[in-house]
Amino acid sequence: MFLRLKKYLFNLTHPVLGEVWELHRVTQEQSENKEQQDFEITPERFEKLIVQYKSKDWHFISVNELADRINNKQIKGKFVVITFDDGYEDNYQNALPILEKHNIPFCIFITKNYIEQGYPPYKMLSEKQIKELSLHPLCTIGSHTISHPMLSKLTEQQQEDEITGCKQWLENLLNKKIDIFAFPFGSYNKSTLLILQKSGITLSFAGWGGPIRKDKEYNLLKIPRIIIAENGMYN
Ligand SMILES: [Zn+2]
Repeated sequence: MFLRLKKYLFNLTHPVLGEVWELHRVTQEQSENKEQQDFEITPERFEKLIVQYKSKDWHFISVNELADRINNKQIKGKFVVITFDDGYEDNYQNALPILEKHNIPFCIFITKNYIEQGYPPYKMLSEKQIKELSLHPLCTIGSHTISHPMLSKLTEQQQEDEITGCKQWLENLLNKKIDIFAFPFGSYNKSTLLILQKSGITLSFAGWGGPIRKDKEYNLLKIPRIIIAENGMYN
């Protein structure tokens, strides 16, 4: 009871500044598996959410503006940053037209092996599509490891291979610096943060954690997100 009261009072004195949305697949096809449904949203529902937030005067900003928003609490208006994990092809086919229509920046975190070897039963982005997206003015490409492991369960060396391997592969493919990252399964430990820092990652995203609040300390290497799915929002 006391803890709940404490949280309530904290939230009251630390109003929401913004939200980082974490999406996966944007598709008409809903999986039969209930767990998988948390990673799916229909294009219609996705667009409806955008329109709803816009009508309440939330601003959809790019990941490059995020650090400023977190550090400079003086900027007016609430913000949303849209992120997609893993690299599903429907992000290109179904989400991109909606994001273009509303002129909304977004980022996609790519897992190397899912692109090169596939990730049954899903259709993943091709290298050609990733290149095209990386040249798109609304899109920022980020890294999401080589094989999508639970990083906290790996040795330091394995973590380093997963993190720098994917980053370098993307940098070679796209011929540009990759400095944003998202933890597969939201999993990390102290070593993960050190490796990220050493490898030149400046912003890294957690798997959950709720909205960004005023006057709260944030580590830019574990920015909280909210999972957006057809059946609700989770954090
Ligand atoms: Zn993922």
